[in-house]
Amino acid sequence: MLSNILQRLIIYTLSIKHLGCLPRFLDLISTSLPLPTVAASQVPILFREPYILSGYRPVQQHWCCYLLSLFQIHNESLNAWTHLLVGPVLLLRWWVNVDALGYTLDAAFVPLCLYLVSSFTYLFFSVAAHLFQSHSEHAHYFFFFMDYVGVAVHQYGCALGHYFYTSESAWRESCIGLLYLPGAAFFAWLSCAGCCFAKSRYRRPYPIQRKICQLIPTTLAYMLGISPVVHRLFTVSWTQEPWLHFYALQIASFVLSALFFSCHIPECFFPGHCDFVGQGHQIFHLLLSLCTMFQLEALFQDYARRRDTVVAVFGERQLWWACVSFPTLFMSSILITLVTMRHMTKQLQGKSERDK
Ligand SMILES: [Zn+2]
Repeated sequence: MLSNILQRLIIYTLSIKHLGCLPRFLDLISTSLPLPTVAASQVPILFREPYILSGYRPVQQHWCCYLLSLFQIHNESLNAWTHLLVGPVLLLRWWVNVDALGYTLDAAFVPLCLYLVSSFTYLFFSVAAHLFQSHSEHAHYFFFFMDYVGVAVHQYGCALGHYFYTSESAWRESCIGLLYLPGAAFFAWLSCAGCCFAKSRYRRPYPIQRKICQLIPTTLAYMLGISPVVHRLFTVSWTQEPWLHFYALQIASFVLSALFFSCHIPECFFPGHCDFVGQGHQIFHLLLSLCTMFQLEALFQDYARRRDTVVAVFGERQLWWACVSFPTLFMSSILITLVTMRHMTKQLQGKSERDK
């Protein structure tokens, strides 16, 4: 009897406690819901994109607002979704290929795994940047710096795949081939450092120096990274190895994506008409996703063909070195972003004190 009364008392107390929490809970929900989007003139200049006149999310909302803005229509929602949906597609293709072509859990499989990890890294940081950068100037810099880390890691992941599965022995014996992996790691890191420097150094309207700081290391990293693929495309018969078409499509989609990324096409011809759908950045994301998918298909075919000889050709030691160099590049890229972020935080603090 007594225990029954006690049990009821506890239930009543808990119910009253929960009722007490209700206003706080409702408050949390109301502050977590994204506000309607605003015009470019209503957000700080840092957040404005060329030829995009509306669909901006207001700054300084609760973090949850930006997370939930994934389900809101704004000028970055497609940028987030295009990279978010590629993740499951990549996983599905990975699973189908593993099922069809088979794999062995040995050192030869490591570069392919690192390539997949690098793809997810760039997709994850890209989605995070497009979702959360509108929170504040500080968040804008932080998330885009992390986006550059993702790009650098992916550049090196691609280089590992190209070196161990795509390259021909004649290319590996050339000067470029001998210096390829350390060079790829260095240029990947440099492209991250160059992009961070350019973003922290220059303000809108951006001078040409900003593009130079970003484009030179990124282009060098890409040209070195793709060199074994180009060599293979020119020296091997495409009819004997039909999956070389995937490599050709990979290069074509990447070159096209770079064009849409840097030229703001088509919004430069229709300012204000591509604010939600059809921006060059969305097309850039789609083409980059296609590029990753073509690359995965081609790498899988090469892996299936060469897996029995990879360890004999390169040696286990070099394959495990690749394993170590990958997180090292990731950590050193993080380090350069943290150093730049520290500098940016000081600048932003100085700016807010001057504005007071
Ligand atoms: Zn993007």
